[in-house]
Amino acid sequence: MKKVVIIGGGITGLAAAYVLQKAKESGEQIDYLLIEKDNRLGGKILTEKIEGYTVEGGPDCFLSEKPWVGEMARKIGIEDRIMGSNEASKRTFVYADGRLNKLPDGLMGLVPTKLIPFALSSLISWPGKIRMAFDLVIPQKKEDSDETLGSFVTRRLGKEALDKIAEPLIGGIHAGDPDQMSLKASFPRFIQMEQKYGSLIKAMLVARKNAPKPRPAEPGKVQKTFFMTFIGGMSDLTETITSSLDKSKIMTGKSVSKVEKKKDGRYVVHISGAEPIEAEAVILTAPANEAAEIVKDLDKTMADNLAGIPQATSATVNLAFKRSDIHKPIDAFGFIVPISEKRKIKAATYSSTKWNYRTPGDDYVLLRAFVGGATNQELVFLDDKEMLKMVLGELRDIIGLTAEPVMQKIYRWVKGMPQYTVGHLQRVETIEARTTAVPGIYVVGGSYKGVGVGDCINVGSQAAEKALEQIKSSSQWPAASGQ
Ligand SMILES: Cc1cc2nc3c(=O)[nH]c(=O)nc-3n(C[C@H](O)[C@H](O)[C@H](O)COP(=O)(O)OP(=O)(O)OC[C@H]3O[C@@H](n4cnc5c(N)ncnc54)[C@H](O)[C@@H]3O)c2cc1C
Repeated sequence: MKKVVIIGGGITGLAAAYVLQKAKESGEQIDYLLIEKDNRLGGKILTEKIEGYTVEGGPDCFLSEKPWVGEMARKIGIEDRIMGSNEASKRTFVYADGRLNKLPDGLMGLVPTKLIPFALSSLISWPGKIRMAFDLVIPQKKEDSDETLGSFVTRRLGKEALDKIAEPLIGGIHAGDPDQMSLKASFPRFIQMEQKYGSLIKAMLVARKNAPKPRPAEPGKVQKTFFMTFIGGMSDLTETITSSLDKSKIMTGKSVSKVEKKKDGRYVVHISGAEPIEAEAVILTAPANEAAEIVKDLDKTMADNLAGIPQATSATVNLAFKRSDIHKPIDAFGFIVPISEKRKIKAATYSSTKWNYRTPGDDYVLLRAFVGGATNQELVFLDDKEMLKMVLGELRDIIGLTAEPVMQKIYRWVKGMPQYTVGHLQRVETIEARTTAVPGIYVVGGSYKGVGVGDCINVGSQAAEKALEQIKSSSQWPAASGQ
């Protein structure tokens, strides 16, 4: 039977496996094998239950405007486990000029759309506010070349908007450096706005006017919020997909060392410590830097372009406290810290305020701090004791928290966050062109066309559909591979 090998059991690989599993169940003559080097599936999605806390090591939510997580949840029967954020506490603070400032209401993307809250906000100085308003009159960029997010925001809204809004907000999502990030690859919507309306503020005002009015949830459905998650954490998603797969089609604790192509068009997937496996198609979902190693004998240009995608290193530090030990309000989604403040943490999420079901009871509070990213990566390698001391020191300085944690858990993500730097689109185009030249290999995942969990489900599912299509329509291979 013709076989597809999926390399990597993060959400991209699991989404691909799900499609192939369903195809098999509906009678398609196809086989698949998912190979994951860790002993568990899920990749960067990692929820742990520790002493009654629901602790997220990697992503803690997904964006509801992208449909793919919701669609997958529906298919695997966990739609009722989707949970919105606690909108009553929907506030984010920015630590700027040595104090916490509330992000003004009406901020859409990076752009203020409500005059009064923005005018009253302490975050941006008056000269900074006036400079942001210049966006209404600054002419749009004429040529089509890519630019960094930093250059774009400075050009349209000014340096203060970059330092205090764009950089920390974006830093939180991409762990990125705005002076390196490609606008075209990361924020194509901003380019369209500038082209269509000549101004981000005008574009956002139109978007706000046309946005559908928030409606109460339909009976039996959860209220949609911008960020959403699962009652048991993001691993509800990966664990339920895993349980829908045939266990005999999963190999964990084995690392793929390389992929070769045979003369008959099939692939040979070499696995450290196991027999090689032949397959008609390979879906490669390992992060770009690891994918580069796997394909370096197969296609040097592909490998070079994969290796050219930088990956930032970061850590999340989860800390639980007794509520009675905290004498400061923890009544927001959290705070973000601009690089210009020269602090050692990038942000903190007040997890148990943002989400329900995160602590053993109301008497406890769960927070999560972010360390590293495109800047300050060396801090990620502090040992646990030093890291804890450093984070607690930062929380004391920034929010005045002096309590001792009752639970702590640190997760390090070495080269865990792909950076879509200038030239990214070109690199991805070349990788895609090379995969077209060697049919049957699909290179997908968070490293290329969207880091979000939803994007990963989308590209993983699409790769599996394409592999199926290709296998069905191709007469390239003899009927049976013997594997
Ligand atoms: C700290 C952090 C917070 C984040 N927060 C959010 C968030 O809130 N919302 C959101 O939408 N996204 C978030 N993201 C991004 C999102 O988690 C990732 O983009 C997504 O999970 C990537 O999935 P993936 O399957 O493409 O890759 P991965 O999850 O990296 O999976 C790839 C898998 O390949 C395996 N592998 C690698 N090499 C080999 C090999 N040689 N052989 C076999 N297997 C191999 C790896 O072990 C891994 O399991 C966050 C990421 C991080 C690091």
